[in-house]
Amino acid sequence: MLSKDELERYDRQIRIDKIGIEGQIKLKNSNVLVIGAGGLGSPILLYLASAGVGRIGIVDGDVVSVGNLNRQILYNIHDIGKAKVLVAKEKIEKLNPNIAVEAYNTWLTDEETARIILRKFTAIIDATDNYETRYLINRVAVHLNRPLFIGAVGRFVGQVMVVIPHETACLNCIFPEREKQILFKLTEENRNQGIIGTTVGVTGTIVANEFLKYTLGIGSLLKNKLLIFDGLTNEFSIISLERDPNCKICSII
Ligand SMILES: [Zn+2]
Repeated sequence: MLSKDELERYDRQIRIDKIGIEGQIKLKNSNVLVIGAGGLGSPILLYLASAGVGRIGIVDGDVVSVGNLNRQILYNIHDIGKAKVLVAKEKIEKLNPNIAVEAYNTWLTDEETARIILRKFTAIIDATDNYETRYLINRVAVHLNRPLFIGAVGRFVGQVMVVIPHETACLNCIFPEREKQILFKLTEENRNQGIIGTTVGVTGTIVANEFLKYTLGIGSLLKNKLLIFDGLTNEFSIISLERDPNCKICSII
């Protein structure tokens, strides 16, 4: 059931024939864990909260700094020094008081913590910028059999893929995990190449849209597909992916 406020709040999207009241109730009953409350996490959280996703978890161990403000649109100068997850929770609760928000003020660095938090949600969004964490999330999401929506960005380029464990290619099928030092170097290189806010805006919005379509059971998803967006040329390209039958992560059930 939807309340009077919900019917009014979601009126414009309920009017979409593929959503309707039935779809809105699906969104209300859905839940998702968003890992990373930064550049990608900002539009993802704002759009999922405003669309009425009933329960949203946020994981991040970082605090807001002035260097975040070119792209992390959830925050402003008054938030500097505060824990991102707490600010994010407060803001999206104000945007939509009908939803439940859980904040985890921590970095995901070990398997056990990741397992404890991820298993509380039935879908996972990877909005991180750290390769080691990405592989940890992929590993735990596949083992827990949770659909995983991945966004990645650098400069003017964004990438999105959707992993349905044991059905589609996982992150490790496509980019097999490397040694820790290499992952650390890749993360540093990625951060050093820079990022503009519009890239995370477009990319994060596509990630959020994939989750909404998945929940509603409409459209086609980026399953076995890697979408690449180039903000300089406005080109969107989609690369077909295949599962690796010998993948160390997803070939074992
Ligand atoms: Zn795999």
